Amino acid sequence: MRCGNGIEARQVNELFINIDPIQAGGRLTGDAMKAIIAYGDGYSVCDNCRKPNRLDYISKPPIAEFHKDVAAFVHMDDARMIPGARRGFQAVAHTYVKKGDPVLLTGLSHYTEFLAVEEEGGIPREIPSDAHHIITPDAAAAKIEDVQREFGRAPVLAFIDHVDYQYGNMHDVTAIARVARQYDIPVLCNGAYTVGILPVDGKGLGVDFVVGSGHKSMAAPAPSGVLATTAERAQEVFRTTKIEGDVTGRKFGIKEPEMMGCTLMGATLVGMMASFPQVKERVNHFDRELSNNKIVVDALLSVTGTKLLSENPRKHTLTRIDTIGSFDTVAESHKKRGFYFSGALSEKGIAGIIPGATKVWKFNTYGMTDKQAIYLADAFVTTARENGLRITA
Ligand SMILES: *Cc1c(COP(=O)(O)O)cnc(C)c1O
Repeated sequence: MRCGNGIEARQVNELFINIDPIQAGGRLTGDAMKAIIAYGDGYSVCDNCRKPNRLDYISKPPIAEFHKDVAAFVHMDDARMIPGARRGFQAVAHTYVKKGDPVLLTGLSHYTEFLAVEEEGGIPREIPSDAHHIITPDAAAAKIEDVQREFGRAPVLAFIDHVDYQYGNMHDVTAIARVARQYDIPVLCNGAYTVGILPVDGKGLGVDFVVGSGHKSMAAPAPSGVLATTAERAQEVFRTTKIEGDVTGRKFGIKEPEMMGCTLMGATLVGMMASFPQVKERVNHFDRELSNNKIVVDALLSVTGTKLLSENPRKHTLTRIDTIGSFDTVAESHKKRGFYFSGALSEKGIAGIIPGATKVWKFNTYGMTDKQAIYLADAFVTTARENGLRITA
């Protein structure tokens, strides 16, 4: 099947169990697919836009209500939908960071957080992770003290990843935010891997901002995401326009400069909305996801020489594994080199492992049925056995 102009229909999630670390939580629901078709036209959500003209005030389709629901979902006061988590980082950095300001990141921060700081001319200072790849409140306190010594003032903003993209480890955002608050540093909790996956309580975490990614973790089309905040910070980051034309004297009412007026339109927003009831429900069943993850991790660890690099027990389904002592030993002499591994899995209906990767790699078991988890676990063990690797019971 083709979509025209040489575009083939993509059938990865239809034909395979997809364990791509960044794709698992973004897979669309059937309702989102319907919404995309119905609202694919450009400004389709604007049919019923009335005064005051702004996207988050539209009531048909129920966009205004959706904004309130999403804010409540992450236990914050106010929310805007944004084109990707990165645009949330950008809006917040643009509000608080000036040239030369120190900004607190971590040794596990995502590159998009760095870029948001770079755009403002901020100076990144990373809280190092400990030997277990965890960002601790003690390390945060020590780094803030270092920054104070270096700059004569505290960082103007802190980006803390709730679950990091490298190890899928969960960091104690509550304790880190408590430290940051003692220095009046606003804290952004990066929930790219958690909002829409497990319950996130922004007020409980004690943070100023919660950012989520629609296409990574909320079963939504790209680019989509959410920036949620407290009533106090909303006045800063969601401030309204003050500018005026010198010839026409025009003003622009309640449009928000940080959001460029209106944000997600059409298919992205309505796709996100259509998935939301299922997303809201699924976060309550994250324990099932962890038990499926354990089935797969245990199977991988039964292959002698495999090491789990993520924290154990797992608190998230994104997992980093080291197979240098197991699957990689086969690659040296295999005629397909490292490609034998992804190839063997692909033949078994499994997608999402980087072709050729046999040393250190990541996978995400999110969204699988129990049956699929057992099948995946068995596929890893069978691939090991077929290639003469030792399995321990
Ligand atoms: C994927 C990811 C991002 C970027 O999310 P977008 O929604 O694509 O902008 C940011 N931070 C972390 C930790 C991520 O894993």
